[in-house]
Amino acid sequence: MTMRSFDDLNAHLREIRRLNDVVALLGWDQQTGMPSGASEDRGAQVGLLSRIIHGMWTDGRVAEALDHLSAQGSTDPVHVATLRNVRRDLARRVRVTADLVERLASAEASAFSAWIAAKPAGDFASFAPSLATLLDLRKEEALAVDADRSPYDTMIDAHDPGVDAANVAAMFGRLRPGLMALLEALKGGTPPAALGMTMPVAEQRAVHQGLLGALGYDLARGRLDASEHPFSTSVGLDDVRITTHLYEEDLLHGLGSTIHEVGHALYEQGLPNHLGDGVARHAGMGMHESQSRFWENTIGRSRAFCRFVAPRFGNPTLTADRLWAAQHRVSAGPIRVSADEVTYNLHILVRFELEAALVGGRLAIADLPGAWNDAYRATLGVHVRNDTEGVLQDVHWAAGAFGYFPSYTLGNLYAASLAVGMARDLPTLWQEVEKGQFDGIREWLHQRVHQVGHAMDAPDIVKAAVGPRDHVQDLLDALSERYKAAYGLA
Ligand SMILES: [Zn+2]
Repeated sequence: MTMRSFDDLNAHLREIRRLNDVVALLGWDQQTGMPSGASEDRGAQVGLLSRIIHGMWTDGRVAEALDHLSAQGSTDPVHVATLRNVRRDLARRVRVTADLVERLASAEASAFSAWIAAKPAGDFASFAPSLATLLDLRKEEALAVDADRSPYDTMIDAHDPGVDAANVAAMFGRLRPGLMALLEALKGGTPPAALGMTMPVAEQRAVHQGLLGALGYDLARGRLDASEHPFSTSVGLDDVRITTHLYEEDLLHGLGSTIHEVGHALYEQGLPNHLGDGVARHAGMGMHESQSRFWENTIGRSRAFCRFVAPRFGNPTLTADRLWAAQHRVSAGPIRVSADEVTYNLHILVRFELEAALVGGRLAIADLPGAWNDAYRATLGVHVRNDTEGVLQDVHWAAGAFGYFPSYTLGNLYAASLAVGMARDLPTLWQEVEKGQFDGIREWLHQRVHQVGHAMDAPDIVKAAVGPRDHVQDLLDALSERYKAAYGLA
């Protein structure tokens, strides 16, 4: 059937989305309860669905619809954004040959298994050949998508449409000295005490379950489960699930994870499905991370939130002040996922500079571990003892996700500016948080971010929400205020 209208195109996109939701549900099951013996079946199921989805993009109907609808010259912003988004989707699918797709899939599978074996052994040399192959294929793919653009820009664009390496480099160029100056200043203060308390996981889970409803996560359209690595996933228009990982001896880790994933899920639950699937989608991973990190850091690490949440744990020794202080301990270490809020962005900076150099051909794979260790010494003052806790720690490169890391810092930057705009618009913000009332915050984000979907790219969404802001300065100001206070330097 030929698609003659935006409704036709959106109906086709909805069918593709339904299939992608099924793939996501299979992935959720794999991480939450699938028997280990089923992994071969699961791989075949996902492979089959992926081939069907690929066919629905590349059978010529979407391309024909784009030509037809573009020729109508509609200036409706939703139509314009739909065409732009779907054109981007299509370029990534039709310009990449089936042969390259197959070689990429097999290179990803071998790089991933090589990484699984190499990581515990700290044996980068055994991983290097498959990483080199995967990197070459990703470059080939980027050039196929856009021969006129630098491959690294195309890779970033796949995760964060509207952002390129020069934007990211400019932000890090100012973030680095700002963060290093803050770390230097904190050395003159008194580090806050660690929480140092344990609580049975079942008791924590009850608190978290109650928190979900308070934050406005719709449990009729979602659920909370446990998994090794916390994640959120959209498996239907009205089914956005989250997982968390609770530790008896580390309350803060579980609390941060749950709030973070709720932030992701509120975004997905709030997308404007009535506008059609061409724009009823998130505006990139940076925007997604801004939502999770806004809730985790701006709200979750505020004094007001600590006053609200501390009593809910039912332990009189867990006071709001104690909880707040423990959330503001800074300690540079080698591992990104256990980094504190201040040094976290320096971990991302190291990865951004190294992958830009790798993709740009300025750094050889064989020299990567040495460059990694040098960068950690220079940027974080950390001595990396081995490749297990160094260059092999993250799965991203092994999974072929070059250009993904900047999203994490973009999320922190957008979140900082959104927080400034929100505080300006909602003068009673912190009084509400202390009372456990989050409706005003959620509604503010819903109107300015969630309901926009991908009608604009992320940098424009933030600008429309809060006006032109210096995101780097907003982030540095927020960190400096909270951390200097926690270190007794305010
Ligand atoms: Zn996240």
